[in-house]
Parts: sequence; structure tokens; C-alpha cells
Amino acid sequence: MKYQSTRNKAVCVSSAEAIKKGLSNEGGLFVPCQIPKLSAEDISSMTTMSYNERANKILSYFLTDYTSEEIADCVNRAYNKEKFETVEIAPLYKLNNSAYFLELWHGPTCAFKDMALQILPHLLTKAIKKTGEKREVVILVATSGDTGKAALEGFRDVDGTRIIVFYPESGVSDIQKRQMITQEGNNVDIAAVVGNFDDAQNGVKKIFTDTEYAEILARNNFILSSANSINWGRLVPQIIYYFSAYATMLKNEEIAPGEEINVVVPTGNFGNILAGFYAREMGLPIKKLICASNENNVLTDFINTGVYDKNREFKTTTSPSMDILISSNLERFLFHITGENEAKVNEWMASLKETGKYDVGEDVRAKIGEIFYGDCCDDVDTALAIKDASDGYGYVMDTHTAVAKRVYDKYVLKTGDKTKTVIVSTASPFKFNDSVLSAIYGDAILEGKNEFELLELLSEKTGMNIPAGLAGLKTKPVIFNTTCEKDEMYDVVSHMLNLG
Ligand SMILES: *Cc1c(COP(=O)(O)O)cnc(C)c1O
Repeated sequence: MKYQSTRNKAVCVSSAEAIKKGLSNEGGLFVPCQIPKLSAEDISSMTTMSYNERANKILSYFLTDYTSEEIADCVNRAYNKEKFETVEIAPLYKLNNSAYFLELWHGPTCAFKDMALQILPHLLTKAIKKTGEKREVVILVATSGDTGKAALEGFRDVDGTRIIVFYPESGVSDIQKRQMITQEGNNVDIAAVVGNFDDAQNGVKKIFTDTEYAEILARNNFILSSANSINWGRLVPQIIYYFSAYATMLKNEEIAPGEEINVVVPTGNFGNILAGFYAREMGLPIKKLICASNENNVLTDFINTGVYDKNREFKTTTSPSMDILISSNLERFLFHITGENEAKVNEWMASLKETGKYDVGEDVRAKIGEIFYGDCCDDVDTALAIKDASDGYGYVMDTHTAVAKRVYDKYVLKTGDKTKTVIVSTASPFKFNDSVLSAIYGDAILEGKNEFELLELLSEKTGMNIPAGLAGLKTKPVIFNTTCEKDEMYDVVSHMLNLG
């Protein structure tokens, strides 16, 4: 399997090169040259497999330049009982006869980014070796919270890698901050940047594009890389759990072989739902992919009108990991849905950069509408969804999952579609405990309590155990206390790498 760029089809690289490079030189994203097709037998053969066996099978279609031993090694290092709290890795929770939650948050940081960031470091280190690269990889991350911690957990103690995370001093929650500054591992470093997320991100971008600094690093045997969500190595592991969910439903006789299901995904950067699109293209019987947004509803409007327009007020919501106005992974979908029309993709991406919007036209919009359904909800409805599921079913979900559940309920009311539906659950309720508690018990319950006390309160109220990654956070020793100014970020990197 070879990979091409969404902005230049003449580009042709192996999966190892695509994963090592992250982004194609002209700014396009790597996509497979053909999407593999699975037969009905291939799919039903997965019913008796473990999660890791399912992962080996799906990855082998895409990573044809990795041996099956290499793939299995990556999979076993990522998905195991030291890292995940359940042997099922991505368990399916049956809510009622039509709705099922696919829980993707049983990993070390309690959010779905672990599903990809636990395996990416292993795919990347093997890619580096395969492409003849001898230097040590240095991963730089600017984070507004969740990605930084998930990347730290993924890369900690992975041979041949170092990871440095910058977070905005004001702009992450107490728990998020504590999760990072107590990070263990002999190849990690963390620094707070005076400023907001943009300051941290701009600093990291500047270091990435500095060719002089890259030469200094190269002389010292280092090469920079990123772990951001446009890397193919982050997308491909996400395809696995759609097949796994379907195989589990088959195994439990919830569906018959070949029966269509719907999938609802709480969406920000369009990465998770794009993996669902690939699964569908590969032959997984998915009828509709339902794209759920919060009040930052650029994608809802796009799916319904064909116009992508980021010129709107940025809203801070109770589902912060979906507070995004530019969904980078959409570019991959546009490439596929237009029959690989690189000229159109280039035109639209240029227009997005210059004017903040583009219009794909009625033909493309109609095609999108055959596959996707888009809707959104606000914070009030999100809270109602949490309360409804708690009161009605005793099921406690986080705010991101609640956006998906609410959109699903609206979809069923509007269409009457009774197809069995997988709702993708992306974070543990403990991660957003204040919003979850206030949704179920009212705001007063939060009074006078800090975030750590709220963890305990949520556990008491629901009878659920605090996940290992969050329990004990309060008393864990702080290892990192560096704070730097924006223009000192280079020094932090140089210092960690002993560049003198
Ligand atoms: C990142 C994230 C999302 C959004 O996923 P995308 O792949 O960016 O669409 C949703 N929920 C949670 C909890 C997340 O961390």
C-alpha cells in the first residue's frame, strides 16, 4: 500500500515514510492510494478475535511495509493490561435495544486520544528505523490539555524518542496541569509557557520551521517530529475500533451478519469520524455517520449546506476538546469524496486560508449527505442528555459523549430511523467531573469543592471507581516546575537535549 498527498497525487510514499513525515512537503495530508475492501467473511472472522487480533488484521491492510511481527509488537505494546483498565480495550455498553456506547476511554489518560497515541510512538520508531534514519526523534507538542498528557503517556520510556510538552500557564484545568507536571518517564520534559494556547502553539511552530535550528539538532543527532492529529499514524489505529464494535455486536448476536448500523461521533478535528468513513469505505456496513458538534457547529453547517465557513465567534463550551473551528482532517475526506480531485482540494484549502471559507457546490454536498448526517447541541442540551441517561439508565457519561447522545436523540425524532446505533464515547465522566456533577445534581453541589474533591464526590455519588490515571493525582509528587516566556522555548528544548 502506497500513500499519496491530498494536494499532489504524484507524491507516492510508503506508510513508514508517511508516518515519519506527518505532513507532505506541499502541505497536503497523506492518504492511501486505494482503500482496501473487506469481504463479509473477513468481517465475520473478527467476531472470535481479541481486540489485539482485530487490530493486527486491520493494520495489516494499511501498513504493508511493516512485517506482521512488527505490527503485532506495536499492537501489544499499546493495548495491554498495564495501559488499559479493561481487557476488552474498547468495550461496548448496551444502553437499550437500539443504542450502544463504544467506550474509548479506558486507557491511561481516560480519553479517546489514548487509542491512537498509545500506538503511534511504536509505529513511529519502527518507521524511523525502516527509512534508515539514525537520529533520535524529538517530539514537540503544544497542548491545550488532553493531547499533551496522552502524548506524554504514549512516548514515555519509548526507546529512541524524547518528548517535550508546552502548555499555557493559564488555560488548562488543575487536573490537566497536575496530570502533566507529575508525569513519570526518563525521556519527558514539560514546561508552562506564560501566555495562552496560541502562544505555546506559535512557539512550537516557530521551532519546527526554523531550518537553522534543525541543522543544530541534526549535528547533535536529533530530528524533530510531531504527534498531531493529521499524522496517518494517528488516524489508522482509529479504524480498528469501528470494526471491533461491529464484531462485538455480531458476537453478542445484537445484529445479523451484514446488518447495517449507524454510528454517532462527537467531532472536533474530524479525525475520529473520518476513521469511521474509512471503515465504511472498507465495507463495514455503516448506513449513516452522524457528525455531532457542540456550539462550534462549523461541521453541521458544512454537511447541511456545502459551505465551510470558520468566520464565526469561537465559543467556549463544556465539551472543550470539540471547541475547534478548523477541522484539519476534513481535507482527507474532501479528497476521497471528489474522486481524488487534488485541484479542487487545493482550491478549497487556499480559499480557507485566504477567506476562511469555501463552498463545495451542490453535487458534492449531495454526495456528503448520502453518507453523513450533521447536527449540534448547546451546553444546556448537553447537560440534559447527561441527566436523562443518568436518571433513565444509571449510565453516567461525559460532556463530549453527551453531545453525541443528544444529537442521536434528535436524529431519531426527526427521521424515525430505528437502525441500531453505536454512539462513540470519548472521555471518562471523571475527566469533566464538574460539568457532569452539575448536570445531574445541580450547580450547588460544586460549591466550595476543588477539582480533586469533585473526583471523590462523583465516585461516591455514582459508585464508579475513580480511574487509576486520576486517582492519587492530588498526592503524586510534582516533577516539573519550569515556566518559561514565549521566547525562552528554544532554551527549554536546548537544555533538555544538552545542546549546551
Ligand atoms: C479530541 C476529542 C474529540 C474530538 O475528536 P476529533 O478526532 O478531533 O474529531 C472528542 N472528544 C474528546 C474527549 C476528545 O478528546
